[in-house]
Order: sequence, then C-alpha cells, then structure tokens
Amino acid sequence: MRDTASSPVPFIDLHAQRARISDQIDAAIARVLDHGAFIMGPEVAEVEEALIERAGATYCVSCASGTDALTLPLMASEIGPGDAVLVPSFTFTASAEVVALRGATPVFVDVDRHTFNMDATSLDAGIAAARRSDLTPRAVMTVDLFGQPANYDAIQAVADTHDLWILDDGAQSFGATYQGKPIGSLGRVTGTSFYPSKPLSCYGDGGAVFTDDEDLYNRMKRIRVHGNGGGSSEAQCLGLTARFDSIQAAVLLEKLKIFDDECARRNQVAQRYKDGLRDIVQTPTIIDDVTSVWAQYTLVSDRRNAIAKSLAEDSIPTALFYPLPIHRQAPYRGFPVAGNGLPVTDKLADQVISLPMHPYLDVDVQDRIIEAVRTALKG
Ligand SMILES: *Cc1c(COP(=O)(O)O)cnc(C)c1O
Repeated sequence: MRDTASSPVPFIDLHAQRARISDQIDAAIARVLDHGAFIMGPEVAEVEEALIERAGATYCVSCASGTDALTLPLMASEIGPGDAVLVPSFTFTASAEVVALRGATPVFVDVDRHTFNMDATSLDAGIAAARRSDLTPRAVMTVDLFGQPANYDAIQAVADTHDLWILDDGAQSFGATYQGKPIGSLGRVTGTSFYPSKPLSCYGDGGAVFTDDEDLYNRMKRIRVHGNGGGSSEAQCLGLTARFDSIQAAVLLEKLKIFDDECARRNQVAQRYKDGLRDIVQTPTIIDDVTSVWAQYTLVSDRRNAIAKSLAEDSIPTALFYPLPIHRQAPYRGFPVAGNGLPVTDKLADQVISLPMHPYLDVDVQDRIIEAVRTALKG
C-alpha cells in the first residue's frame, strides 16, 4: 500500500539550498544594493576569477545566459551563412538555435544510446552530409548532456581529421571532469549556463564562456558589450547586450562555496538510484575516467508512461528531456541530418524519463521514488 499522505516532492529543490545559505546570499545581495554597480560590478570580475580556477581555462567571459555563452564564440569566430556546425539533435533547442541565428546551418548528429552524448561515427556522417549540402563544416558543438562530458577523445579525433574545432555546450556540465580535466578546458571554447535549474545556478539568468585563446577572448569581450567592450564609445564590431549582473555574480560566488559538496551529494543520489533500479530499467552509463554533475537522472524505458503515472500517484514529479528531437521541431526541419536519419535520437525521445535530482533529496524520498518506479515496472 502507498502512503497517500506523502508530501509532494519538488523536481529540483532550490528552497533547501536557499535555507542552507540564505544569510550569506542575503548579505551578498545587500552589498550589491549598497554599492550600486549593478552591471559588471566588482562581483563580476571576482566570479570570473573563481570560475577560471574551476574550469582550468585561461580566460572567462561571464555573460547574461547560457545561450549568450554559445553565441559569443560563434560570433567571435565569424560563423555565418554557408558554414555548418555539427550539433546533436538530442539536446535543448538552444544548442542548435544559436547556430541558426548566426545564419549558419546546424547539421544534426546522432547520439549514443547509453550516454545520450554525441556519437563520433555519426559525426563523421554529419560532416559528409554538410559537404553534400555545399556547406563548409567549421565547428563541432559537443553537448555534455545531463551533466556528463561527451566522449572527447573520439570526437576530437574526428574533428582533427576534418580541421574542425570544438565548441562545448557545457550548459549542464559545469563542474564535471573528463580524464581529470574540468569542463571549460576540453574544447577550444566552452559555454555554460547558470539558469536556476542547472547544477551551478544563480537566481536569474547567467552564463560564462571559457577559452585559452587570447584573441577569441578579446573578441568575445567586445561583443559582450555592443562591440565596444564597454570601455569605448566606438564599436569595433557588431555586438550584443550580453553583460552579467552583479547580483547574479554575488549569488554565484556564495553558491560556489558549497558546489563541491553539492556535486558529491548529487553523485550519492545517482549511485543510490543506480543500485535501486539497474536490475529493472536502463540507468545512465558514465564512461571510464569521467565524472558527471548529474544535471538530470534519466531512465530509458518502453514503459515510461507507467513510470510517470506510478510516481504521480505518490506526488512525485517526473520530466521528459527531450520528448521531441530538435531536427523534428518546425524551425529546424529543413536542416541536414547525418546519414539516413537519427535512429537513436528518435528512439530515445520516445523512451526517456527523468527523475527528481538535486543535492538535497533525502534517502526516504529517494526510497519512495525507487519503490514507485519498481512498482510501475512490476505491474
Ligand atoms: C540550458 C541550456 C542552454 C541554454 O542556457 P540558458 O542559460 O537557458 O540560455 C543551452 N544548452 C543546453 C544543453 C542547456 O541545457
């Protein structure tokens, strides 16, 4: 019998995090209100230094969103009409949107069924598809989906063969590592997001770009503020309003102090889900010598509706990331896809279901979740 009095469970519990550090956050925000430098104030420079350290990169450009963090490197690299960027279709639409908004062409690539990340063989086919469409392949956008770094060795090898560089969409993976190297140091350039549902988040929109390339860094800084970098009245190129708010930077600085502990807790939750569920359903595979920050915990099942229903009956929310691949969404249907379609992406879209995942998920609630999934799949 289910305990019908069980309390509703949040999918991501930002209140528990706030309760833990509310005094520090309130004081940090109050400091910004007092000094009044609301945009690109002292906290912004401070958080960029802190982020550089964690990302293992030489330079950081903080910005207004994860979407801007992908747009800045594309603009700075003059990606535009006639260019192709290889993008997985099984991701959030922003990954492809930023490419199309530059007038360039996203060419969609399939993913691996067990890691949800870009399949290097399909990448090769995608590059061929781009050339058949008379496009010039320029870059590969890896996406570290659900918090796990993509397979960089395999993807870099294909990219090198074709003289392409890697833009890492690390919106979900900041804090993760690949062979000991942190996200932020893997591609030529990495963009991440601090949207509230991401593993490291602020209380609003925010993002950051990381690179070791000084020229790219200087261009991105100019583009971030209307092509003049904020320090001049003369524009040197077209730019954006992609500046970062001091209040968000202040929040991020406080959250960074507990981020390692939160990542460790997320990993404990993931391990417990795996132990409780792997015998009855496909749980995520983490490749060797890689750590994940578990932005999502995603199962693959032909019976996801039964799982969702069983959890809903116990007031537990679930979510579908992503129910419709990007190449099947109206604005993107005309763009090329690798090979003869993206069979793994199409199948996953029908089978994935994500469970509540955050650092403050206590074991009793997690047991309820595991039990509800098991009940669904036994029935
Ligand atoms: C969230 C997300 C983005 C966009 O970040 P915003 O901060 O919402 O602009 C881009 N790519 C992926 C994979 C994301 O999950």
